[in-house]
Amino acid sequence: MEVRTRFAPSPTGYMHLGNLRSALYTYLWARKNGGKFILRIEDTDQEREVPGAVEKIYASLNVAGLKYDEGPDVGGDYGPYVQSQRKDMYLPYAKQLIESGHAYYCFCTKERLDEARAEAEKKGETFKYDKKCLHLSKEEVQARLDAGEPYVIRQNIPLEGKAGFDDVIYGHVEVDCATLDDNVLIKADGLPTYNFANVIDDHTMCITHVMRGNEYLSSAPKYNLLYEAFGWKPPVYVHLTPVMCRDVQKDENGQPILGEDGQPVEYVRKLSKRKGDPTFEDLLSRGYLVEAVINYMTLLGWSPKGEEEFFSLSELEKLFDLEGLSKSPSIFDMQKMNWFNAEYIRRLSPEKYLEMARPWLDQVLSEEKFDYRRLCELLQSRTEYFAQLPDMVRFLKDMPDFPNDFYVNKKQKSTLESSVSALKEAKELLETVTDWSESNLHDVVMEKIASLGIKNGQMLWPLRIAVSGQQNTPGGAFEIMYLLGRSETLARLNASLERLV
Ligand code: GLU
Repeated sequence: MEVRTRFAPSPTGYMHLGNLRSALYTYLWARKNGGKFILRIEDTDQEREVPGAVEKIYASLNVAGLKYDEGPDVGGDYGPYVQSQRKDMYLPYAKQLIESGHAYYCFCTKERLDEARAEAEKKGETFKYDKKCLHLSKEEVQARLDAGEPYVIRQNIPLEGKAGFDDVIYGHVEVDCATLDDNVLIKADGLPTYNFANVIDDHTMCITHVMRGNEYLSSAPKYNLLYEAFGWKPPVYVHLTPVMCRDVQKDENGQPILGEDGQPVEYVRKLSKRKGDPTFEDLLSRGYLVEAVINYMTLLGWSPKGEEEFFSLSELEKLFDLEGLSKSPSIFDMQKMNWFNAEYIRRLSPEKYLEMARPWLDQVLSEEKFDYRRLCELLQSRTEYFAQLPDMVRFLKDMPDFPNDFYVNKKQKSTLESSVSALKEAKELLETVTDWSESNLHDVVMEKIASLGIKNGQMLWPLRIAVSGQQNTPGGAFEIMYLLGRSETLARLNASLERLV
């Protein structure tokens, strides 16, 4: 049988990293088996819908390279692929369940339900619908329908017995039917609930493997009762553990709470955009590489058999398996993400790096004034993500203010006094230099150091501080002097010396 998987997001705004990972696994499993990957938009909860969100889903999947074989914008034999456009397909199935006694019309008003809910809450119980309308006679139901009374259709869950299903990750999951509520299948607005639509859609779209977040684990027994009621074979279920992250506890002023050891108290929580965690789009807009994000996200919850950590999407399409899926929640770690991204950036060709860096450098510098090619050579190995670049190169455009103790560096044997004399020598020398190539700057300065009999650091350290205003720079004194050019270097050197003496 052909493997058919689906990614079924609700259009609520963003592609969360957890969502991206579900999409990835779903995609990879289809590809691994030479099957089909389907995109279905689950928009039955129209209040939660955010305009433009569907387009964002298309765009994100596109950039990620997760090409779907069937979906709203590409078509397919099992459409429509948007739940609201399938509206009329669900009611006949619900009626079939009513016929067989697995569902029933319910006319209870919101007031009655709210009261019952409040009552249950008072007693500290979870609300369960009391099946009042299950006991209405056929005639009464018909009369109320004919009178146009608003209704919902509820699933008739047996009062006794067990409901369960098999999950690839969690094994056999079983609950007592007595704990399950007769939940709504068709809402008063005629639209199905997610609880009903996912079953009908997965079946009618011939989905063989359902991979989704484990928040659906507790509802899946109910879905299985529906499959049984219809006499349908359920899909293979793979409920994925969530993507979490570490955070520190904060007090009401937003200050970290410290534990007895004086360290901030950490806890683990779900990723959340509201708490400032990045979405897939956020990462891309900060200059993370799609390939690096895909690589890291795949490994967050799935382990390959060997030691290798770097995989392209097409390699993953061959390697991915269900056995490697993790049984415990995975932790998204920004530092690990940065490490992956830095590795991918290092592997870019110099041309590609320059092309990707250019828009970020342009925010601060201009290519007419600065040798971007040389600058990029210095930056590439230090870049974790491209949005860091403007801050890393800003000193080339504007000389930053800096304290004089920057000149003091034990390791380089540099003191304020040694810096003053070294900078005077450097100024005198550089004013005579016309060949401003890096190699010539190197040769003349090194010659000077040798003739003065001082340590390299005693000249090179203060020189770099004096022309950059920073202790950390991409490249050393020669590279920076070259990038700044002759007149800017001399101007900076003069100004810095003046401040020192
Ligand atoms: N629409 C659901 C969501 O976005 C998907 C659940 C499923 O994959 O069945 O959470």
